[in-house]
Amino acid sequence: MDCLFCKIVAGEIPARKLYEDEHVIAFHDVGPQAPVHFLVIPKKHIPTLNDLQEEDKALSGHILHTAQRLAREQGCEEGFRVVMNCNSLGGQTVFHIHMHVLGQRQMTWPPG
Ligand code: AMP
Repeated sequence: MDCLFCKIVAGEIPARKLYEDEHVIAFHDVGPQAPVHFLVIPKKHIPTLNDLQEEDKALSGHILHTAQRLAREQGCEEGFRVVMNCNSLGGQTVFHIHMHVLGQRQMTWPPG
């Protein structure tokens, strides 16, 4: 499958990994938009949030909990932002769902 993040999961493309278990991997974003910017992705290939199934509920929660724990470990306990872009209109460029975690700068609203 020609998916960039599946290749990271398979170890075919290098990534600066923060965490890995049976279900998820977290790694630093290659184009950081904040002093801390990492991604938490499922190992399972799910193209967009629109493709989430009932059976993915536990996995979705695991992604969120992993993001929260790693944000704390990265020194973002005072505050951070999570972002999931869905489809091109939502700003998604890599079609394997991922949660952005950004921190250690003041966030603003609305996002671009
Ligand atoms: P999105 O635009 O929400 O789909 O986010 C995709 C993110 O993946 C962007 O922030 C990219 O900088 C990041 N990205 C693309 N390729 C890599 C890579 N090889 N390693 C780490 N992050 C990547």
